Amino acid sequence: MYTIGVLSLQGAVSEHINQINQLGAKGIQIKHPEQLSEIDGLIIPGGESTAIKKLIDRYDFLTPIREFSKANKPIFGTCAGMVLLAKNLLDSEDSHLMLMDITVKRNAFGRQKESFETSLHVYGIENEIPAVFIRAPIIIEAGEDVEILAKIDNHIVAAKQDHLLVTSFHPELTEDSSLLQLFLEMIATSKKLTV
Ligand code: GLN
Repeated sequence: MYTIGVLSLQGAVSEHINQINQLGAKGIQIKHPEQLSEIDGLIIPGGESTAIKKLIDRYDFLTPIREFSKANKPIFGTCAGMVLLAKNLLDSEDSHLMLMDITVKRNAFGRQKESFETSLHVYGIENEIPAVFIRAPIIIEAGEDVEILAKIDNHIVAAKQDHLLVTSFHPELTEDSSLLQLFLEMIATSKKLTV
């Protein structure tokens, strides 16, 4: 059984843990960098990226998360998690973990559309899935190694680069676990490569 950690500094943690457990994997809250050695994959949840960023620094998570990624262990960033994983942020905001070759614009849908739910076709998933957007970011530029998995109004809202997966929306707030299933498959692949 795979163990998936959810970075538990701020944001939507328990919904991810529930979905992980429902899929038959083990979900644990990650509050200390040492715990990263116990997990097969890491989810960086939605929340407020500026707050999570400060807490990552305060609790010395920056280098351990980068090392986790360097070891090709899968990381899934949802919403604020996507912002934190990006190499570049628009409007000269400071990027943080800088692991994925994407440029992200925060709060990209404007005031009147701050939160909405829609259904979305995601590459590699057969049926359309429900997607909840809350003050969501979008990807405005992606490097050539990045696979674009979903778009809305021509904006990129889900993408994958090797062992890194990001979504602008919150898959953990719906009953649909296809994206988590995709993440579990990425974990299985990374295990095969490192054995
Ligand atoms: N707007 C938030 C940010 O940039 C992200 C919102 C979310 O995670 N739902 O941090």
